[in-house]
Amino acid sequence: MTIQWFPGHMTRAKRQIEEKLKLIDVVFELLDARIPQSSRNPMIDEITGSKPRLILLNKADLADPVQTEAWARYFRDKGHATHAIDANIGTGVKDLAGKSKELLQEKIQRQISKGMKPRPLRALIVGIPNVGKSTLINRLAGRNIAITGDRPGVTKGQQWIRFGGELELLDTPGILWPRFDDPVAGFRLAATGAIKEEILHIDEVACFVLKILVERYRPAMEERYGLEDLPTELPDMQAAIDVLENIGRRRGCLVSGGNVDYEKAATLLLRDLRSGKLGRMTLESPE
Ligand code: GDP
Repeated sequence: MTIQWFPGHMTRAKRQIEEKLKLIDVVFELLDARIPQSSRNPMIDEITGSKPRLILLNKADLADPVQTEAWARYFRDKGHATHAIDANIGTGVKDLAGKSKELLQEKIQRQISKGMKPRPLRALIVGIPNVGKSTLINRLAGRNIAITGDRPGVTKGQQWIRFGGELELLDTPGILWPRFDDPVAGFRLAATGAIKEEILHIDEVACFVLKILVERYRPAMEERYGLEDLPTELPDMQAAIDVLENIGRRRGCLVSGGNVDYEKAATLLLRDLRSGKLGRMTLESPE
């Protein structure tokens, strides 16, 4: 699904989330653990306001565990509760009720001291397209439900999904727009598949990602593609093209005449990265 975000769409998305915020106790802000900064909506603080928020580093199964730990520390240092999950398999998902309770401890205590019986906490998932919102909702629901995040008349027809006795989740997530301000973030988003390659050219995305992968994960790259003596960094575009060409040759991505089909090589590289075949890799580190 490609959504073209125009100012009108953003205003509407923001308003829809603000409507939903009235119904809930806690926001689950879903980020891609491989690109936590680039997959973050730039206006998230303004949109969610004072609502308690739990940052979820999703797709942690695909991310470098050392980096995920570093990112979790980074966000916690900034005062955000943070938790790594894998919505596909469900790793970490069962902790969400407990984490939410921790976050809302004071409110719960106040209710108890007034003699009230605490009701289940109500949560809303927000995040940019493709970050795993539907997958997490289905995981919590324990079944596949049709998810339409973009209905008019937001508060109508929405359902609560019960998760244990302590947590309820709104079945329509808040869809946020990705960053547009930063071209590097754009390439990282394209590399993970969060935005479509038609927007950025696929061999350009592959060359961009090769620079990162060679710098950070050279041994894994050498092993996967049978490359020897990769340089420790790729100083320019030409160096990246050379590596892509090598990968193409190794993998038989050729056109007639024996030249490398760069687009095919780029597709192969990105597919390997996205599926985790290259190993667990994170494309950006906390500043
Ligand atoms: P949404 O647009 O935010 O609702 O994203 P989806 O739930 O449709 O997920 C986008 C893609 O990411 C799908 O192919 C999911 O299978 C995949 N995905 C979601 N969560 C995870 C995860 O934790 N690990 C992995 N490996 N893939 C995931």
